[in-house]
Amino acid sequence: MRPFQYVRPADGDAAAAALAAPGAMPIGGGTDVVPLWRDGLATPASVVDVTLPGDDVTPEPDGGLSVRAGARLADLAVHPVLRARAAALALACDSVGSPALRAQGTLGGNLGQRPRCWYWRGGHACAKSGAEGCPAVAGDHRHHAIVEAGPCWAVHPSDPAVALMALEAVVHLQRTGGRRAVPLSQFFVLPSQDPTRETVVEPGEFITHLSLPAGTLGGEQTYEKVIQRGAWDFALVSLATVRRPDGDVRLVLGGIGPRPWRITDSIEEDVASGGLDDDSIDALAERALYDATPLPGTTYKVAQARALLVRAMRRLGGVAR
Ligand SMILES: Cc1cc2nc3c(=O)[nH]c(=O)nc-3n(C[C@H](O)[C@H](O)[C@H](O)COP(=O)(O)OP(=O)(O)OC[C@H]3O[C@@H](n4cnc5c(N)ncnc54)[C@H](O)[C@@H]3O)c2cc1C
Repeated sequence: MRPFQYVRPADGDAAAAALAAPGAMPIGGGTDVVPLWRDGLATPASVVDVTLPGDDVTPEPDGGLSVRAGARLADLAVHPVLRARAAALALACDSVGSPALRAQGTLGGNLGQRPRCWYWRGGHACAKSGAEGCPAVAGDHRHHAIVEAGPCWAVHPSDPAVALMALEAVVHLQRTGGRRAVPLSQFFVLPSQDPTRETVVEPGEFITHLSLPAGTLGGEQTYEKVIQRGAWDFALVSLATVRRPDGDVRLVLGGIGPRPWRITDSIEEDVASGGLDDDSIDALAERALYDATPLPGTTYKVAQARALLVRAMRRLGGVAR
């Protein structure tokens, strides 16, 4: 294993300057950086600690909220302002891995974590490692993607990202001499675009914070997750739901693709309109997964995703509402 330097900058400008050095990479809690380094999947010359000081959650002038990328998941899970106004995010943070991972892992690191595909992590040649093909297609793919897949079939493992997509979060990035803001809907890179990366974060850049627009905060919010084991596990399928104060509905599935999968506007609008009977709900859930392309070992994910959607649609748009 190649040794690396650990850099602890005092502020964002110093972090950006340190990240401009060749071979530098950001580190939050290190719960993924260290295994990647151990397994030879990351060979940093230096790691730059981007858990810069600051409040975890601050109000924005337009009524929205700003969430620090260096905030620990455990702190976000119990943060009173998030629990009151962005409950889907607090619940998603609370569902991540184990108490130790949540105490150490940060929100920025959770978005930047690499996929859990056992072939790629195990050093097999594949599209993600820069070679061709995906060994999971003919191999063990039971946790792999059913939407937006190929040439790599790995899913993005983040729970918080699913809630953040439903909350229409914006990711704020800093690098030497500049900052930019990217809507989370444009933050992920699909494997058809470039299978070797998962996000638009460039070398030298780091996430400073995420903003949650005022219009998506409050209302009714949930985050549900189907896992194989009783605890400490990645989502097979998950669902974030938001009924905004203006009545609009957001439905976002996780665990099924290389980015959180937002259900199309027209289905969300039908749910928001309400008065749906069971047949209509079944038809909408069927339509929501119409574009799914499961492999033989992942057809169960289509059924699980439909079941989560049906339950949510009954609650949000059923006749009894
Ligand atoms: C057993 C196990 C179970 C897990 N279960 C779940 C689960 O159920 N749900 C889930 O969502 N996750 C799960 N995880 C993943 C875990 O939550 C992540 O490892 C963690 O959130 C990463 O946070 P970190 O701060 O430690 O990231 P780090 O390891 O520090 O960084 C991860 C990546 O993000 C980059 N990065 C870090 N901070 C920034 C930043 N501010 N800007 C840009 N890039 C940055 C790093 O360069 C690196 O590439 C699990 C992990 C394990 C090992």
